[in-house]
Amino acid sequence: SKPTVIITGTSSGVGLWSAKALADKGWYVVMACRNIPKTEKAAESVGISKNNYMVLPIDLGSLVSVRDFVAKFRATGRSLDALVVNAAIYLPLIKEPLRSPEGFELTMATNHLGHFLLCNLLLEDMKQSSYGDRRMVILGTVTHNPDELGGKIPPQPDLGNLEGFAKGFTAPISMANGKKFEPVRAYKESKVCNILTMRELHRRYHATTGITFTSLYPGCVADTPLFRNHYPLFQKLFPLFQKNITKGYVTQELSGQRVAAVVADPEYRQSGAYWSWGNRQKQDGKSFVQTVSPQARDDERAAKMWDLSMRLVRLA
Ligand code: NDP
Repeated sequence: SKPTVIITGTSSGVGLWSAKALADKGWYVVMACRNIPKTEKAAESVGISKNNYMVLPIDLGSLVSVRDFVAKFRATGRSLDALVVNAAIYLPLIKEPLRSPEGFELTMATNHLGHFLLCNLLLEDMKQSSYGDRRMVILGTVTHNPDELGGKIPPQPDLGNLEGFAKGFTAPISMANGKKFEPVRAYKESKVCNILTMRELHRRYHATTGITFTSLYPGCVADTPLFRNHYPLFQKLFPLFQKNITKGYVTQELSGQRVAAVVADPEYRQSGAYWSWGNRQKQDGKSFVQTVSPQARDDERAAKMWDLSMRLVRLA
């Protein structure tokens, strides 16, 4: 029978095209999404056959909903062979933080905390799988890394000592380091947490489970709906800028093929790796293991992020 992958956020963009590419490679895709009709329409629009996927509801901003999703997945009786952490929100223009049902700042809650809980719960399912090559793949982004050109535009992420997490991460706190709310920084810091999570999963569980834990930067997929909350002029100019000036632009289809390769192709079976195809896209560009930012490779910070996130998602 086919191997099974769960992908979060497949109603558009990178997640949708990852689902398409993995279905084409012979995988059964469980789509973890909050809008089921939208997701089904999207799956149909890219030609994923109904035999090759199902959609199960999840709102990653809600810890209760994440737990419900896991229960529903388990009720299907399927073995879990791979997980792709992809869903994200980016709200660059808001002035005041939005809040999750648990009272957390919503960008960090959705992109990091919901996924952190999901990864920890589904790790148990992946341990049970007898598939020979199980992988957990978490989407990163170049903007997490001030050491790279694509990450130099301010504001830069700063998790500090995670003072905001330590204080419970509810109002009036809205940032991981407890400082003033800044929505672009919230997004970048959630992606730093995604990478720290991948590295900590690798350190804790790779040797004992044999599961491969990786991250990747698929390229600048400048025309996905991720940017729908930005100024209309930005949405128009950003893809042109990435296509013609930085040459960082990647199509949604190619980004999905890259994710699928990291999930399924033998050459990406290196646990703890962060894969990139570089910032300037070249014809037939080759992937390589990229060094992550100083904050994202800080083991002490990773351990602290892990312990505090465990408390915030009520696993500890
Ligand atoms: P999209 O906005 O196209 O896709 C985001 C997906 O996440 C959608 O399916 C969306 O569902 C889903 N989602 C958002 N919030 C929730 C929630 N609370 N619960 C469940 N699902 C949710 O963005 P991209 O495809 O561009 O981004 C996907 C990933 O790729 C992200 O992790 C992003 O950081 C990463 N990435 C993107 C890059 C780019 O240039 N675009 C570059 C590098 C990394 P809905 O339709 O319901 O909103």
